[in-house]
Amino acid sequence: MFCVNCGSEETTFDGLCIKCFLNGKQLVSLPHHIDLERCTSCEEFRVGHQWLKKKVTEAAKDAVENRLSAIHGMRVISVGMQVTEQDERNFLVKADVEGELSGNAVTALAETVVRIKNNVCQKCSRQLGNYYEATLQIRSGTKELSDEVRDETVRYVTGRIENIGSLNRQIFLTKVEEVQGGVDMLLSSISLGKALAKELSDMYGAETKEAAKLIGKTSDGNDMYRLTYLVRMPEYHLGDIVIYNGKPYKLSGISKGNGRLIGLSNFRETSIRRSDMHSLKVHTKKGDLMKATVVSRSNGEIQILHPVNYSTIDIKVPIGAEIGDTVDVADVDDTIFFVP
Ligand SMILES: [Zn+2]
Ligand SMILES: [Zn+2]
Repeated sequence: MFCVNCGSEETTFDGLCIKCFLNGKQLVSLPHHIDLERCTSCEEFRVGHQWLKKKVTEAAKDAVENRLSAIHGMRVISVGMQVTEQDERNFLVKADVEGELSGNAVTALAETVVRIKNNVCQKCSRQLGNYYEATLQIRSGTKELSDEVRDETVRYVTGRIENIGSLNRQIFLTKVEEVQGGVDMLLSSISLGKALAKELSDMYGAETKEAAKLIGKTSDGNDMYRLTYLVRMPEYHLGDIVIYNGKPYKLSGISKGNGRLIGLSNFRETSIRRSDMHSLKVHTKKGDLMKATVVSRSNGEIQILHPVNYSTIDIKVPIGAEIGDTVDVADVDDTIFFVP
């Protein structure tokens, strides 16, 4: 076949050789401008149906790449992009495209302006509107929730939500409210509330109770509920000295099925069923343990200064335990115990 334009003997498109076919033809095109939505609250960018955290130049490149079109039959192999900031809302993007058209390597250029448009993503609009579906009510089983347990729980829940929320935009913490007797944490999702109540129950041996309240109808006519998960933290806490069957123990572990105790008189480990843990009496909170200065060490025993009257006393320690200059001790009925 010969090119009807120049007569050269080559594979032809529409009767033309590749050179004549490409002459003056625009192979790739971009719209005159592209609007790129940015959330004014979290500053994430909308990419398709998603909101993503990106640098503005990267977001502009992605927006351009999504809108780049090539003529029929051309395969785009690579796109190089150059972004020039015109002002803080307008970015000129030049695309340098390499491709292939019926076995021929081709290159093409196109450019457009990416305009940043302010918007608010759904997550932020919900968060700003105090949207919540579930409440975690953190309370104590006995008296007031201690500051220590409250802070630790709030820290744990906040950290978990940050983790899960980085993968799922429906997940966020709406509000933390200190209330009489404890703290309320308002959450964006019912399933999140359920999962966190269970985690806290497993970690701390907390009792949980859930209650649902009908709050209206969804736009498609379904009943809409809000769930409240009451999490009753036990008095005992990891590291506390507890009395069990009349003897002192350190509470060294809590898991789904049971708790682990270390006897202070013999340093033996015992496990206790979760259902029996309510019988544990807290003797000394971990934060209230006393420090004693070590005078001398021998295997299985050390000499310390009594933390209150500074007399020299001998106390048992686990065989092979590493002993520093001070040790934690507990005073149980006028006997000083080493706390492992
Ligand atoms: Zn030709
Ligand atoms: Zn946002």
